[in-house]
Amino acid sequence: MSADPSSSTSRTVAVIGAGPVGCLAAMAFAKRGWRVEIYEGRADLRLPESRANLALRSINLAISHRGIVALQAVNSAAADRFLADAIPMHGRMVHTTAGKEETIYYDRDHQHINSIDRAVLNQGLLDELFFRHKVQNIDFDGKKMTARDLETGRDVEAHFDLCIGADGSYSVVRRQMMRVMRMDFQQTYMKDEYMELRMPSGVGASGESTFLLHPNRLHIWPRHSFMLIALPNKDKTFTCTLFAPSTEFDKLDTVDKFLSWFEHHFPDAHRHIGADALAKDYSRNPRCPLICTTSNPYHYKDRAIILGDAAHAMVPFYGQGLNCGLEDVRVLSALLQAEGITSDKTSEDPTIVDPRLAHALAYYSEHRHEDLVAICDLAQNNYVEMRHDVTSPMFLFKKAVDNV
Ligand code: FAD
Repeated sequence: MSADPSSSTSRTVAVIGAGPVGCLAAMAFAKRGWRVEIYEGRADLRLPESRANLALRSINLAISHRGIVALQAVNSAAADRFLADAIPMHGRMVHTTAGKEETIYYDRDHQHINSIDRAVLNQGLLDELFFRHKVQNIDFDGKKMTARDLETGRDVEAHFDLCIGADGSYSVVRRQMMRVMRMDFQQTYMKDEYMELRMPSGVGASGESTFLLHPNRLHIWPRHSFMLIALPNKDKTFTCTLFAPSTEFDKLDTVDKFLSWFEHHFPDAHRHIGADALAKDYSRNPRCPLICTTSNPYHYKDRAIILGDAAHAMVPFYGQGLNCGLEDVRVLSALLQAEGITSDKTSEDPTIVDPRLAHALAYYSEHRHEDLVAICDLAQNNYVEMRHDVTSPMFLFKKAVDNV
């Protein structure tokens, strides 16, 4: 596989991880004329079993202006495709235990966030990927790495000029970087976990499928120490996510206990999803941990950088994890442009550092960190707002006044 990049006059970037951040990074570097190789541990996302695995891990996401601007900057066709598939959500719809619904608009100008399918961003790039190749070891000073071909079990060596770690919160690239550089790293598990549940579509008067809840809202059932949320999908279903402390989940150790607990706290959602579907999801779907990580710096010399969740995993309550990851790509791309860094190889010798590229990566680390720490903190705070504050009359009053 890996052609030795010394045979090419263009620099090679190895992108590790074909999640949305890795895909956007690949697009950004391809646009700048680099040779791009993407290594992804999972199977081809177009295969049905891969879609099924993906579905166990939040099928949809809220993408805001931040993410859209990043997409537009890198690839406006991808941004158009993505917007065509998105469902706008103009505000939160708060559901009380008594079944009352109240919309809190995001702002007076009716700006909105968008519910999108997680897989949309990965489409269009699939032919350029090495699927089922799990990166194991990276020799940054030699600019080479080993990936295991999971089909054959064989290890293959690949060379790069720049290695981008977009391999998620448990990043191997980050771990490998920490062996050769001084990177501060912090990881925290939240007391809460989440589980995904699916709300089916309804049937309209003429037999057509319909949304069971308002489609243009982010639905929240705040219950102080836990909450349920729901985001709309194109097929008129909703993906619901139940967030609760591990101790609360521990108490629900049988399906019957879970069903009666769910019906007590979320009677309308219980009705819409139905006991059978709920029981199935509860038995089948995993309880997933919520992890928060921070790293600093994000780069090593002129040859490695981590982006997206590999660099900063945050709790999902601000809906900004992926948005920030996409923004990482936009910011890095703009810096390379500003520094006039082209795809032309500067040296064949891995011991020689390209000072301009090293400077651009260092500038990225230095200037991106404060923003990322701030948004991780905002995400933490927003959990309290979503599960508790939105139930307070004073909060609703203030929001109403703001939006006049
Ligand atoms: P990932 O999506 O984790 O992709 C990493 C990829 O790397 C994977 O495909 C993995 O298979 C691959 N990989 C890992 N190790 C290796 C290896 N050694 N070799 C090769 N490949 C490897 N964000 C938002 O902006 N809005 C939301 O509404 C939102 N909702 C969320 C809801 C939940 C419940 C959760 C948990 C998160 C949510 N997020 C949201 C955050 C968002 O999911 C992440 O920020 C985003 O997926 C990060 O993308 P990524 O490409 O950096 O990493």
